[in-house]
Amino acid sequence: MSEKTIFQKIIDREIPAPLVYEDELVAAFNDINPQAPTHVLIVPKKVIPRVGDAEAEDQATLGALLLAAGKIADKLGVKPRDKGFRLVINHGKDAGETVPHMHVHLLAGRDLAWPPG
Ligand code: 5GP
Repeated sequence: MSEKTIFQKIIDREIPAPLVYEDELVAAFNDINPQAPTHVLIVPKKVIPRVGDAEAEDQATLGALLLAAGKIADKLGVKPRDKGFRLVINHGKDAGETVPHMHVHLLAGRDLAWPPG
C-alpha cells in the first residue's frame, strides 16, 4: 500500500490539526502556510490524487467538497456578497500542486486579485 498523504494522516488524526468542518465524505482544516486571513483546505476522505483523476463514482464526493465550502464560508462569516471567498483547486505542476491528495483551497479575508497569478 502506498504511503499515506499528509492530509490522510490529518484526517486519520495521526497528525494533530483542529478540524474546521467534517462530514461523512470530507474534512477541512486551516492551511499551515496561509495565503489569506482565511485559508482552509477542504479534503475528501477518499484519496483522489488530483481533480482530473476523479471518476464518475466520485461525483458525490466532488459535490460534497463544494457544499462543505459554502457551509464553512457561512461559519467563518465570509459568505455575504459584500465579503466573499475564492475556491482554488490546483492540478499538477504548472498549477502549483504540492500535495497529491485532492483539496479545495478556500481563501478569504482580503482582496483577491483577478486574474490570479
Ligand atoms: P497545493 O499546492 O497542493 O494546492 O496545496 C497544498 C497546501 O497544503 C499548501 O497550501 C500547503 O501550505 C498546505 N500544507 C502542506 N503541508 C501541510 C500540513 O502538514 N498541514 C496543513 N494544515 N497544511 C499543509
